[in-house]
Amino acid sequence: MSAVGLPKTKEGGVDFGLDKLAADSERQTAGVPDLWPPDKRVKFALVGLGHLTLEEILPAFAQSKKAKLTGLVSGSPDKARAVAEQYGIKAANIYDYKNYDAIKDNPDIDVVYIVLPNSMHCEFTVRAAAADKHVLCEKPMATNVADCQKMIDSCKAASKKLMIAYRIQYEPNNRLIQKLVRDQTFGKVKIIEASNGQNQGDVNQWRHKRALAGGGAMPDIGIYCLNTIRSMLGEEPSEVFATTYSTPGDPRFSEVEESIVFQLRFPGGVIAHCSSGYGYHELRQYRFMAEKAWFGMEPAFAYSGLQMQLSLPQGSREIFAVPKIDAVNQFVLELDHMAECIAYDKKPLTPGEEGLQDQKIIEALYASASEHKPVALLPVAGLDSTRGDALPPLAPLKL
Ligand code: NAD
Repeated sequence: MSAVGLPKTKEGGVDFGLDKLAADSERQTAGVPDLWPPDKRVKFALVGLGHLTLEEILPAFAQSKKAKLTGLVSGSPDKARAVAEQYGIKAANIYDYKNYDAIKDNPDIDVVYIVLPNSMHCEFTVRAAAADKHVLCEKPMATNVADCQKMIDSCKAASKKLMIAYRIQYEPNNRLIQKLVRDQTFGKVKIIEASNGQNQGDVNQWRHKRALAGGGAMPDIGIYCLNTIRSMLGEEPSEVFATTYSTPGDPRFSEVEESIVFQLRFPGGVIAHCSSGYGYHELRQYRFMAEKAWFGMEPAFAYSGLQMQLSLPQGSREIFAVPKIDAVNQFVLELDHMAECIAYDKKPLTPGEEGLQDQKIIEALYASASEHKPVALLPVAGLDSTRGDALPPLAPLKL
């Protein structure tokens, strides 16, 4: 990927030979971004033009260094034409849900990014794999374990990549917290608390229909607590316990749960306590309680404004630190990671197996809630058993 005549950096980008700006004691810049030229970029088609696509993913392409938007798949021709005009997509690269399979014959599309209601993820992944395209799929992966497995099997059979869009695992504040946990920088983590809630609007939206959503707060936003904790620890829970509640008579929750509170026990001794709800004012947070410090985030799980916090003793005082980490667009990180996985034949950090494992645990949580008792899970050996190739290592935290 290097321009003719200039050397490469050790990361594979172009070495522009810039002078070192700041002393070693200062905070260093992120460096020159490794931009891939347009003809080398991985070509994405977006499937579904709803809130997430229009508000977050489409604008993210403008900041991507390795991906480019080349196609759209939508059930609404007018919407697709309007978006295509805004983002410069060729009319020949617009598909609907019926002629979607014809992407097979379109070399302008390498990968589809599925941003549809949860129950549709499986069908559109299986059809993409059959059309010889890679798949980036939104969370939750599907609405049941059997569909998750079908998605993994179809991509494997077609030798195509499958990545689930767990953006938190790519975000630098979260990655730093993961490093503190894994390195035991402040001793062992003992207890984790996490919560993710918001007050839902329109009663008619698919999120309130069991067949389309697979559940209520849990698979939509509670999954952030579950997936973040699993990825920080690397371990899988050995036992889960949950309780759910829906306000009687509230039509938003006639089919799916309003609130869920759940506990996860991990074999290494950590206990996690999580809550998620669709009926209270937005609150997204987590806190890890370790032997020598606590650290966490509020807000956590949000698209922006993430900033880790840390509290630890120093002599007779308690120090509260807010490590300064530059804000990044999490959707850009995901697009670029998927592009790298395709270009360099790597397994995504968050492959289908990662989404399948969350779905298995979600089903165990619902079983626990309906039976009013803890549910044991099969032991899983090793760390990160459901994850792909690791991201490049982070520098240690200096205080
Ligand atoms: P949305 O309702 O805004 O958009 C859904 C799209 O699917 C719309 O374009 C709609 O027309 C289309 N659609 C096709 N068939 C449909 C049907 N039968 N019923 C309803 N819509 C149908 O939803 P969204 O918020 O964009 O969420 C889409 C996916 O993205 C979900 O899986 C969701 O969990 C996920 N999501 C992820 C994040 C994140 O931060 N990673 C955030 C929001 C949503």
